[in-house]
Amino acid sequence: MSNPAAPALESALTDRFHFGQILVRKINGAFVLSHCGDETRKKLKTFQSAEDAIELSKFDDSGNYRPLKTAPNLAHGWRLELARLEELQRALDYFYPGRLAVFLAWKTGQLHTTPLRETLDRQSGMYRVAAKISDDQIDNVVGDFCRSDGGCLRTILWKRDQRGTVSSAKLPLEKFDPACDQIKALGRPGSSAFAEATADKTTPAIATIPLLCQEPCNLLVAECRKVVKGKDKR
Ligand code: SF4
Repeated sequence: MSNPAAPALESALTDRFHFGQILVRKINGAFVLSHCGDETRKKLKTFQSAEDAIELSKFDDSGNYRPLKTAPNLAHGWRLELARLEELQRALDYFYPGRLAVFLAWKTGQLHTTPLRETLDRQSGMYRVAAKISDDQIDNVVGDFCRSDGGCLRTILWKRDQRGTVSSAKLPLEKFDPACDQIKALGRPGSSAFAEATADKTTPAIATIPLLCQEPCNLLVAECRKVVKGKDKR
C-alpha cells in the first residue's frame, strides 16, 4: 500500500535531520536512527526492523509507559538501521503516529486546525464539564502541559477560540513556529531557550521535520477537566 507521506518525507529528506527526539542520518545509502542525544554514544543496541520502533517508543529510560508519544522522554541507548525509505516512513510513524501525514497536509496547505474551545464544546459524558474552564486556567494548563521542556514536543498550530486567540500566553512564540526545533527548549525553560540555542554558533544547525499539533489531544482535554473539577489548582 502506498504511503501518502512519501512525497513530503522525500522532499524534506536531508542527510541528517531531526524528527522530534530522533536523529536520522543517511549513511552509505541506509537510514540510521537514534536518540538525538546519543549521536556520539558508543554502546548502542542495534535494531534492523521498522517494527522495532513500536517497542522502542513504548517506555522511557526508567521503564515507565509513555502515554504521549510526543513527550520529550524518548528512551536512549538504541540504533535503528533501515535500508529503504518505506521502512523509514513506517518507523517514524511508529515513533510519532500520524505526524508525517499531518506534516504532509500542512506542507500542501490542506491542514485543518481546531480551536481548543471547539474541542471542549464537543465533549460528552464526564468530559463535558471541561468546557467550563476559564481563559486564565487555559493559559496555565496549556502553558504547563504542552510546553516543550517537559510536556510535549509538538508545535502548536491550533488557537484557543474561533477569534484566533493564542493558545496560551505562557508559551514562547517559538512553540507556535514550525521552523523552530522544539528540542532546543529541553532543559532550558522559558522563552529565551530558543534564542539562546539559535545564538549558539558552535552548534551547527540541523534540518528539522516538525511534529505538528493541529488540534488539542485527549490528554489535554483531561487536564482541562481536572482543573474545572478542582483536582488541579493550576
Ligand atoms: S495538545 Fe498538542 S501540544 Fe499539547 S500535549 Fe497534546 S499533543 Fe502536545
